[in-house]
Amino acid sequence: MHYLITGGAGFVGSHLTDQLLGRGHRVTILDDLSTGSMRNISHLREHDHFRYFIDTMLNAPLLAEVVDEADAVFHLAAAVGVKLIVESPVRTIETNVRCTELLLSVASKKNKPVLITSTSEVYGKNAEVPFHEESDLVMGPTTRGRWSYACSKAIDEFLAIAYWREKKLPTIVVRLFNTVGPRQTGRYGMVIPRFVEQALEGAPITVYGDGTNSRCFTHVNDAVRALILLMESDTAIGEVYNIGNNQEITILELAERIRRRVGSSSEISFVPYSVAYEENFEDMPRRMPSIEKIRDAIGWTPRIGLDPLLDSVIHYHRSTMAVPVVAIPAAS
Ligand code: UDP
Repeated sequence: MHYLITGGAGFVGSHLTDQLLGRGHRVTILDDLSTGSMRNISHLREHDHFRYFIDTMLNAPLLAEVVDEADAVFHLAAAVGVKLIVESPVRTIETNVRCTELLLSVASKKNKPVLITSTSEVYGKNAEVPFHEESDLVMGPTTRGRWSYACSKAIDEFLAIAYWREKKLPTIVVRLFNTVGPRQTGRYGMVIPRFVEQALEGAPITVYGDGTNSRCFTHVNDAVRALILLMESDTAIGEVYNIGNNQEITILELAERIRRRVGSSSEISFVPYSVAYEENFEDMPRRMPSIEKIRDAIGWTPRIGLDPLLDSVIHYHRSTMAVPVVAIPAAS
C-alpha cells in the first residue's frame, strides 16, 4: 500500500512512518515543520519507499496530487500541546479545522480512505471515567483558550463522520490519550518529556497545581500499532475509537517516579496553573479511556507499561542531550 501521512515529521507521524515502512509499505509525508522536525525523519531520507514534502496542507494543488497518488491517508497534522494552544488559539483553530476540511473534500473526490486523529481532550470536563466513545463531550466557556482545541477537534470528528454518512467516504476517527515516547518534545507543554529533561538537568520538576490530577500514558509504538490495525480493518469505517492505556498515575507520583528512574536530585516545585498557563485555566482531574471498543473490533490492547515507557523517553533524552563541554587543562 502507499500511504499519505499528514504531519509525518511529527512525533507520532514519524513513528507511524517507521512502522509502515517496516511492513513494506510506501509512505509519502506532508508536513510544514510547524511542530514537526526534520530530525524525526532524517534517518529515512534514503529509503526507497519514502518521500516527503515540506509544505502546508493548505497548498491545495499539492494536497490533491499526494492524495491522488496514495491508497489511503493518515491525517495527523494539527496544532497540538496545551502550551501552544493557550498561546496561539487562532493558529490552533484555523490549522485544525481548515486542514481537515480541505483534506476530506479532496479525499472525497477520489474516494481515498482517511483516518483522522482526534484527542481525548474532546471529553473535556466529563468527570465519569473511564471515557467511552459514546460519552458526552463537556466543554468549558469559549473565553478559556484551552477549549478551542477540544472544539476544533470535535468539529474535525463531526466532519469525518458526516463525510462517511453523507458521501460514503470511508473515514475512521481515533482519540489519542496522552501518547508518549522518544522524539516527543516538551516545548509545547507535554508533561513526560518536560519532567525527564528537568530531572536529567537537575532542574526543579514543575508540577502544576497540587499534582493530584492523574493521566494514563500510552507508548507511541502501541498507539501506532492501533492506527495501522484500524486502517486495515473494514469494521472500523465510520466509527470512533479511543486509543490509550488505562494504567493511571497522578502527576505528583509521575514526577517522583521519573526522578527515581533518572537517579536525579531535582526538587519538585509546585507551580500554580495561572503562572504555567493563564488565569482561570481549567485542568482535567482524571482522564482514562475505556478500551473495550477497540479491543473488541481489532483485538488491540496496549503492551508497553509505564516503566518501560519512561525508560525509553529517558534513554532518548540522554542520547540527544548536548555533550557537556569539558575544559582541557592548558599544557604546562
Ligand atoms: N503538567 C505538569 N507540569 C508540566 C506539564 C504538564 O504538572 O510541566 C501536568 C498538566 O497540568 C496535566 C498533566 O501534566 O495535568 C498532563 O499534561 P500534558 O500537557 O502532557 O497533557 P494533557 O493531558 O493536559 O493534555
